[in-house]
Amino acid sequence: MANTGWFGRKSKNARKIARQTVDALPDGLWTKCPKCNEILFNKELEKNLRVCGKCNYHFKLSAYDRLVFTVDDGSFEEFATELRTANPLNFPKYEAKLAEYREKSGLDESMVVGRAKLAEIPIVIGVAEFGFLGASMGSVYGEKVTRAMETAVAEKKPLIMFCSSGGARMHEGILSLMQMAKTSAAVARMNQAGLPYICVLTDPTTAGVHASFASLGDVIIAEPGALIGFAGARVATQAGLINRPPNFQTSEFQLEHGMIDMIVPRREMKSTLTKLLQFGYREAANVI
Ligand SMILES: [Zn+2]
Repeated sequence: MANTGWFGRKSKNARKIARQTVDALPDGLWTKCPKCNEILFNKELEKNLRVCGKCNYHFKLSAYDRLVFTVDDGSFEEFATELRTANPLNFPKYEAKLAEYREKSGLDESMVVGRAKLAEIPIVIGVAEFGFLGASMGSVYGEKVTRAMETAVAEKKPLIMFCSSGGARMHEGILSLMQMAKTSAAVARMNQAGLPYICVLTDPTTAGVHASFASLGDVIIAEPGALIGFAGARVATQAGLINRPPNFQTSEFQLEHGMIDMIVPRREMKSTLTKLLQFGYREAANVI
């Protein structure tokens, strides 16, 4: 075809122009989808709960945005905000790093917990903040999760936990790993009290959090396309797991293999949680 070269050149130029346009985009107006490269108008993206309208990519949400999208307006009351981690290993520059992330995220730690209402049902809720040191689980994160569970037991309320984590916080060494046992024991106390516990796994939920309270919900939900697993793909390869299937740490793979109960798109999350609570809370009330 005589025109192939011409069209080829044209599309090459078009790509170049598109790239220049992207670079020149004013800050705060547009966001580029990392999955399909579509340029998304921020107002539209917010309206769509930060999900790409073209490819359904679920952007990460801050903890407070998640709460705004999930619980009844004005119902959230945060607790355990006074907790501060120590630096038990004298890890170099740990305090400075924490101060930097507090400033950047406006949060005191990588986990937010509180009381709220969802469709008028009183609940306890926890939301991990990936923007704070990769939602790594240190002693404060673990303590907040535990207090959320203890509050749920004391007040006979269901618990919803939006999980996310890159793993245990290395800066606190063994104290971080101990949170796995502590939070798992707290889940057992919720079970004994007959209270519903719903986990929502968001991108990414890995390592120590995945291997403890995030896998122990009565119902385990995941957002589409989330990375869910214990060791990351690189570590799994180093550990000799070379024949792993492709996408073995996605929500879809986990559902197919019975590790989670359902995948729920963000737009349907609130209504799904409401339905589960209306069913589970009534059941719990009968038990108590
Ligand atoms: Zn997209």
